[in-house]
Amino acid sequence: MNKQKIVMSLSGGMDSCTLAALAIDKGYEVHAVSFNYGQKHSKELEAAKEFCKANAITHKVVDITSINSLLSGSTLTDGTAAPEGHYEEESMKSTVVPNRNAILGNLCIGYAASIGASEVWMGTHAGDHAIYPDCRPEFISAMDALAKFSGWNDPITVKAPFLFSDKGGIAKTGLALGVDYSKTWTCYNGREKACGKCGACQERLEAFASCNATDPLAYE
Ligand SMILES: [Zn+2]
Repeated sequence: MNKQKIVMSLSGGMDSCTLAALAIDKGYEVHAVSFNYGQKHSKELEAAKEFCKANAITHKVVDITSINSLLSGSTLTDGTAAPEGHYEEESMKSTVVPNRNAILGNLCIGYAASIGASEVWMGTHAGDHAIYPDCRPEFISAMDALAKFSGWNDPITVKAPFLFSDKGGIAKTGLALGVDYSKTWTCYNGREKACGKCGACQERLEAFASCNATDPLAYE
């Protein structure tokens, strides 16, 4: 059987792992890429590897640290402490890597063209729209338009199935699909257990709470 291939960036967090599970459920052959952009810790990449192994997903880890000197300004890579407290606009702005989704998305489009994949899926969701300019619906449309020029094969389509879902909606989808969230990592800090205090942890815990579910991940 010849399954339709899709390419997606898989960080190891709950959004991208749920997206991969959704694609598998819909019968696609998933080709996942994890980008090592010099994260302060490797917990996410480890989670990505483990998740892909557990779900028989073709997985590549690509080192893009050499472009970091062009993309300063993110507390996720520059050694500054990640902001604690609720996921609110001002403090979270320091986590923005400029033009990140266009850069990583285009690498995924190139990979898709190379392996004959028909679609690139992005994990963008509604909760990110306000803070990150490259998470807005207009951005996904622009990426899709751009992907049409990626090669000589059939045009590639860029989709963001969670574009209008919030984090709670993503958790709900994933729980229904049986995603093992103990194999995903969201926390900005890379300690043994998730901190439960950073914006990413708080948002994740709220997503599970909105589904009346308990996060299987261990917290400090
Ligand atoms: Zn945390």
